[in-house]
Amino acid sequence: MSEDVFGIDLGTTYSAIAHMDEYGRPQIIQNRDGQNTTPSVVYFESASNFVVGQEAKNGARVYPDETVSLIKREMGEKNERIFFDQPFYPETISSLILKQLVTEAQEATGSTSSKVVITVPAYFGLGEKESTRQAGQIAGLDVVGILAEPVAAALSVGITSAQDKCYFVYDLGGGTFDCTVLRVTQNAFEVVATDGNRKLGGADWDEALFDLVLSKFVQESGIDDDPAADPEFYQGLMNDVETAKKTLSKKEKARLRCSYEGVQAVIFVTKEEFEAATRHLLNETLDIVQRTLDAATSKVPGLNIDEVLLVGGSSRMPQVAEGLSSRFPWPLRNTEFDLAVAQGAAIYGSGVQPAVSDGDGGEGSAAPADDLPMLGSGQEIVLDGRQVTFTNVLSKSVGVRFFNKKTKEHYIGFLAHAQDKLPVHTTMTAFTIEDHQTSVELQLYEQSGEAESQEVEHNKRITPEGVDPRITGLPDLPEGSPIELTLSITNEGLASLHAVEPTSGHELTLEASLSTMQPEELEQARGIVSRMDISI
Ligand code: ADP
Ligand code: MG
Repeated sequence: MSEDVFGIDLGTTYSAIAHMDEYGRPQIIQNRDGQNTTPSVVYFESASNFVVGQEAKNGARVYPDETVSLIKREMGEKNERIFFDQPFYPETISSLILKQLVTEAQEATGSTSSKVVITVPAYFGLGEKESTRQAGQIAGLDVVGILAEPVAAALSVGITSAQDKCYFVYDLGGGTFDCTVLRVTQNAFEVVATDGNRKLGGADWDEALFDLVLSKFVQESGIDDDPAADPEFYQGLMNDVETAKKTLSKKEKARLRCSYEGVQAVIFVTKEEFEAATRHLLNETLDIVQRTLDAATSKVPGLNIDEVLLVGGSSRMPQVAEGLSSRFPWPLRNTEFDLAVAQGAAIYGSGVQPAVSDGDGGEGSAAPADDLPMLGSGQEIVLDGRQVTFTNVLSKSVGVRFFNKKTKEHYIGFLAHAQDKLPVHTTMTAFTIEDHQTSVELQLYEQSGEAESQEVEHNKRITPEGVDPRITGLPDLPEGSPIELTLSITNEGLASLHAVEPTSGHELTLEASLSTMQPEELEQARGIVSRMDISI
């Protein structure tokens, strides 16, 4: 019997944790509040105490300076916050969410395991994945896998690689909308295309409903100032609106009580009114579905979607299934919505083979598996007695900074493009700018915006710090002498650039830098988090 591995969906707005029960089925583990999901909101109560979940979410407007929401959007970015004189990075804040989830799960199950699989969106780039892994390490956890959310969702409904099918994963969460075309073939799960809107989710439906309720309240009660400017009123109504929205997923009508400066009213909203007020949001998701489908079909001509998997808490709204059916001919399959991803992560965790022990999880950031003689380069696990591989596409384009002699400007030339199938291995020839050039400088960049752009500032430099990114000591060469470049990106998204000057054989290899945190910062964060307790 292998050790318990917790599967964690570290969500933008809500997180969930699951494990395999004694019958080998994935089970969501409820939190201390008896809920299946926990708001991904952290409240810093004191230097040594923090609160994660509904209580922190309820206070977000009232204690805006001590509360952090939506931290997932900052993963991979170096954003420092100070609470009680101590520095917190996105990794540290996420680690507090993980710490609370695992602590509560250990209490509930009696397991002392600290092994976890954490899920990430399919579009997460190299840095964001590494940040997620580090969040686990800071929390003192043993991260045995990082898994793409749509793949986890597919695993949760028993999709195995014994079949040959194509799925469209529609994941509408609280703060993000993700679309993925997933091909499941003999022994492999392959992400064919991924797209979405990182700023669209249930919160937008909440806001639309908030505006609707507020205008009814103002109209019915004749208030002449703006109640929404009052943080207490705003927070109270926002919470009620989210509850009402969930009611409207089941019932035709929801009832809300509004109270402002002694004026009270009961407001009714019908499902029809709610759907009319949010139709533009739904349509936006449907347009993105079309766009993702187009991208997938251009890569795999003749691709046919066998089924849509409905994932994410907001896909519980009946308008989602109705909207999809009205525009696309595909059969729809419900998953457990906001629970599916954590369940799939637990299933995946049960198939991860124990790595050859490298001691008790020291703080080294290198994954132990990297040292093993691996076949292929995939994340291979065993499910139902079968060896299964997971392949992904590149989420962001990767390139090198070049110089345009005509415009006298730097630009990014891409060697690999978003949606390219991993692993990537591409070559190109670049040329020296002038005669007698003794060195060439190589700077690696990753696309930072939604779309690929040659403008340097639309990209993020991923050249490692602390190394000289130049080939020096070149022989005397004329202008326009070739430098051969090879970019390799592994299945895990680790990028390296190899450059060689062919006549001399002078060469250079650059590994993309993944971590935004320095080793000392990681160590410090581990210390801070280990000293912090969950408030009860
Ligand atoms: P994420 O992974 O983006 O954090 P989830 O998949 O957990 O998000 O979904 C959270 C969103 O789902 C929230 O906006 C929440 O209000 C919404 N939600 C949860 N249950 C329901 C429901 N029954 N009807 C409508 N929306 C729901
Ligand atoms: Mg999610």
